[in-house]
Amino acid sequence: MISIVLSSVIPLIASSIIWRSKSSRDELEDGNKAYRNLANELNEVTSKSEIVINAIGDGVIAIDSQGIIRLINPAAQQIIGWGKQDALSLNYKSVLKLIDKKNEALDVASDPIQQVLNNNQQIRTNDQTIITSSDKKIMISLVVSPAGETGSGVIAVFHDITKEKTEEREQAEFISTASHEMRTPVASIEGYLGLALNAQTAQIDDRARDFILKAHASAEHLGRLFQDLLDISKADDGHLSNNPQMINIVTFTHDIVQGLEEKATNKGLRLIFKPMPDNTAGRFVAPAYSVNLDNDHIREIINNLVENAIKYTPKGEVIVDITGDDDRVVVSVKDNGIGIPAEDIPHLFQKFYRVDNENTRQIGGTGLGLYLSRRLAEIMGGRIWVESVYKSGSTFYLELPRLSPQDANMIASQKELVAQEKANQEQKVSTEPVKSILNKPPIVEEPANNVPRGQALTPEQIAVYVKKQRELAQQQNATSANNTNNRPPSVSVPTRNPQK
Ligand code: ADP
Repeated sequence: MISIVLSSVIPLIASSIIWRSKSSRDELEDGNKAYRNLANELNEVTSKSEIVINAIGDGVIAIDSQGIIRLINPAAQQIIGWGKQDALSLNYKSVLKLIDKKNEALDVASDPIQQVLNNNQQIRTNDQTIITSSDKKIMISLVVSPAGETGSGVIAVFHDITKEKTEEREQAEFISTASHEMRTPVASIEGYLGLALNAQTAQIDDRARDFILKAHASAEHLGRLFQDLLDISKADDGHLSNNPQMINIVTFTHDIVQGLEEKATNKGLRLIFKPMPDNTAGRFVAPAYSVNLDNDHIREIINNLVENAIKYTPKGEVIVDITGDDDRVVVSVKDNGIGIPAEDIPHLFQKFYRVDNENTRQIGGTGLGLYLSRRLAEIMGGRIWVESVYKSGSTFYLELPRLSPQDANMIASQKELVAQEKANQEQKVSTEPVKSILNKPPIVEEPANNVPRGQALTPEQIAVYVKKQRELAQQQNATSANNTNNRPPSVSVPTRNPQK
């Protein structure tokens, strides 16, 4: 019985073994085939991606989690002057030598590659400088992207922008020089036209007054354009002055708003300052928001925003408000004017950008105010943005870093100390012998360029300024043998005027 069973089972087992071993062989063969196919496919993909990476005009470098270079394409080799075999397996810092303004290697906090390795967030920069293998400094535009999970590596893509940057700098220098040179004669024209319009200095008939008013407005516009260009070129090349002074932004803004009230009223608009003084107590309802920033910059921005709100609101109201928390203060300027189409909003803070539609075509402007405002806000560590509904109105926001009450107190007491020191010094000087005063250098008049931006000059002030300049010129004429009496004095009048 057993033999019968065995005789029937053994062949079965055997056939099963034979079958199994055959099937394992098949499987193995199938597996090998699949492996070969996969390897081929991978090879194909690798060579395809290699072809693509090699064909890219931008430099591409792949860096692993340890900062070791695993891939470098020909464009990268050409830009930085390193051969593939030399660069592979080296730490990226030896090959992609990023340096700061002092020509020193970037520290961990400012090294974009290290930052992406740490944070896994893509970084794009346009102002990195690297040193090539031949010690040449070039500027690059760089995009560093994470290659997977945090710390698993990064891909750096870059290209040489030295030429563009040089051209940009030359263009900015030209604009700066040209606007500086042209601003002075325009200021002179503006000043003389102001004199012609002033009843105390000239008599003209109504027709002439009308012509001169138009010429004066155009000269003013031109002067403002040159001043804006000058400020922008300074901001762009980092030469804009920054003189922080502690102020309460609520009272500061209130003063600016008061200065623009006439303009709003002339247009039939209501200009409302929301943190209104409590008339009974004579105090501001809003808390004192102290900031320690350049007052001229703040004045320029708030002036721009309120003037724009007035300019782009045919009827209704403009509301200025101030809010904030422990760290920041936000000035908002809200209008119910023409509003801004959604597609224009992303471009609004770019240089020379003006919305072009039926509502704006008749309204003059330079398209520089918001760009300059954004640059100034950034310089002060703040930001500016807008919310708007086309044909309903806009609200512009200026956010600035707020000073903590403790810091504000400290600065206030330091200021007091300095003032005390100064008063003591002055007292000492006034008791010194007259001779020492005579030995002091003469007081040099502040040049027109230094007149704070955003400050209004009345025709009377212009007249006084022109008169002073004329007297100075006459004194110079009298002493100079080369001068003829017919030559008009060179008048340099500050052009900045908030009448936009
Ligand atoms: P501009 O000299 O043209 O006013 P700005 O840079 O100040 O230059 O403003 C840029 C553009 O933004 C303006 O031309 C205008 O189209 C739009 N704009 C600015 N402020 C407002 C506003 N409050 N309401 C509607 N549009 C505005």
